[in-house]
Amino acid sequence: MNTDIAIDARNVGKIYGSGAGAVTALGDVSISIKKGEFFTLLGPSGCGKTTLLRCIAGFETPTKGSIHLSGTDITYDPPYQRPVNTVFQSYALFPHLTVAQNVGFGLKMRGAAAADVAQAVDRVLALVKLEDFANRLPQQLSGGQQQRVALARALAPEPQVLLLDEPLSALDLKLRKEMQSELKRLQAETGITFIFVTHDQEEALTMSDRIGVMSAGALLQVGTPHDIYDRPTTRFVADFIGETNFLEGSVEDHQVRIGTGDLLAVPLEGETGPVTLAIRPEQVSVTSAQADMSGKITDATYMGTDTHYTIELKDGSPLVARIQSKSTATFDVGDTVGVAIDARAVQVLKS
Ligand code: ATP
Repeated sequence: MNTDIAIDARNVGKIYGSGAGAVTALGDVSISIKKGEFFTLLGPSGCGKTTLLRCIAGFETPTKGSIHLSGTDITYDPPYQRPVNTVFQSYALFPHLTVAQNVGFGLKMRGAAAADVAQAVDRVLALVKLEDFANRLPQQLSGGQQQRVALARALAPEPQVLLLDEPLSALDLKLRKEMQSELKRLQAETGITFIFVTHDQEEALTMSDRIGVMSAGALLQVGTPHDIYDRPTTRFVADFIGETNFLEGSVEDHQVRIGTGDLLAVPLEGETGPVTLAIRPEQVSVTSAQADMSGKITDATYMGTDTHYTIELKDGSPLVARIQSKSTATFDVGDTVGVAIDARAVQVLKS
């Protein structure tokens, strides 16, 4: 048994309903989440993130497979027997209870002594910096403060694993950014394993130790934010995480010939035949001089720090370049430009 693993999901499948109306929410998902890790499940709406989280929490039972926590099979344990707690998008606070009563509620229900409940409440309210709000009612708090109360309540019983289902999506952008760093801090201070669900790729990249990218009930890739961004293994992941250009090509002579006829010396690992090149806009440079390739600017969008140029290559395929607005010459729609690609950073995907 690997003692570093908090949650081990093995071949988990979940089908809702039966017969013609059956929905496969999870196909066959296996994943190991390490102790003390900030792990994010990322994917578009309906890909099965919440279902996987609910299976870990015990609110759903998988149709197949098993879930282990620190080496113990918990697949059929009821939620309250798992050292796991969940923070939901809707804070689900009791409106008639004070902040302190909300936070202590779960512990009280579990039969903890009043003094222990009070001590735990003080501890977690300090952790989320709400010591001075203990006697307020939820409606006397801002959205961000309510979310902190929900967090404090989930942390009070000292769970081994905290599940967070899109907990920031109800907050405005500024507050959301604040709560992102707050969550990172809480995770680092408590050392609790956080499993965070979001469909926001930027949120996933900035917050996580590792990310699992899901699509249509399957886990497509697991890795650090750098792995996922710089080395996507599928077109879906490359497309979902950040902006990506895709160029079709074919391996020829240890290089890839693209539709323009140009040969690119991209990193190949034994690929043959047709391939797709995934090229980030920041890997494309544009110049008024001669370069490896040429094209015509069809769109220029000023985005503040960066300008996005869409370039039509010789064969008509579009290529987006992201260029720092200040550091380079600017180009206009209609300009013919030289185009170079940082070939070492290009990802080669099997077509
Ligand atoms: P979102 O980001 O929109 O919450 P998600 O990635 O969390 O999406 P899930 O909520 O896990 O996705 O849903 C996965 C699939 O299972 C979807 O097709 C959804 O409609 C379906 N589903 C979820 N819960 C049920 C249910 N109780 N009964 C039937 N189908 C369900």
